[in-house]
Amino acid sequence: MELSVAGKRALVTGASSGLGLHFAELLARSGASVTLAARRKERIARAAESLCSQNLEAESATLDVTSPDSVAALFSRSKPFDIVINNAGITGEGSAMDMKIEQFEDVIATNLAGVFSVAQAAARSMKAHGGSIVNIASILGLRVSGHVSAYAASKAGVIQLTKALALEWARYGIRVNALCPGYIETPINSAFFASDAGTRLVHRIPQRRLGTLEDLNGPLLLLASDASAYMTGSVIAVDGGHLVSGL
Ligand code: NDP
Repeated sequence: MELSVAGKRALVTGASSGLGLHFAELLARSGASVTLAARRKERIARAAESLCSQNLEAESATLDVTSPDSVAALFSRSKPFDIVINNAGITGEGSAMDMKIEQFEDVIATNLAGVFSVAQAAARSMKAHGGSIVNIASILGLRVSGHVSAYAASKAGVIQLTKALALEWARYGIRVNALCPGYIETPINSAFFASDAGTRLVHRIPQRRLGTLEDLNGPLLLLASDASAYMTGSVIAVDGGHLVSGL
């Protein structure tokens, strides 16, 4: 089975920047009709227009994954999706000793409850014809680092949630898998990775380099397409070997 998403309808949450914008462009260039969703409506509208101007199929939809009404509104307006990329996320870094509970709760609300909310709405609309849900977790859902307690807990939750949903929804032909990127270089973090601390971190990655957005293309298309027809509940790390770095 080929890695094709041509003719499929895809939703990407958190598509206004970073990985989400890249995934939306990748899916559109691969022939899918893509809905870019996020809170910053000007950014997703501009990105969708840019894709349409290249004769690709794209539209934008305002979405706050922490609002059940916002999630319900998007799905009630849209035709069922074949592919849903649950990518919206926030970092909420900070010392666990000093973190306010509200900050912890915000991270869980976006990264974990938001993923559940979108996956549930997607599954209800996919029930009749099946589909693929790809949850963007992180290697921090599998191992820990300093000052990311809320984030790491939320991503570990996404990984376990992925498996639980895969189990419940396999009978409807709905596949649910998780992608765990390692450290991916984007304009937002390139200054940090150029610093001494950043260089030391990169040195601990067995492949001795950061990931690029393009490094995620193959795994994302694999999970989104029918090439992974017999995969559900899988957790794929894309991290240059970071998870297997020596102790
Ligand atoms: P960005 O900050 O660039 O993008 C995050 C996206 O999430 C934005 O489009 C933002 O859009 C959206 N978002 C945040 N909150 C909400 C919300 N409540 N409702 C809807 N959309 C929301 O980060 P990245 O691209 O780096 O991260 C994308 C995903 O990849 C995250 O889940 C992150 O945890 C994961 N990841 C990233 C890694 C990396 O190295 N960059 C590594 C591992 C995982 P808006 O503000 O417009 O709503």
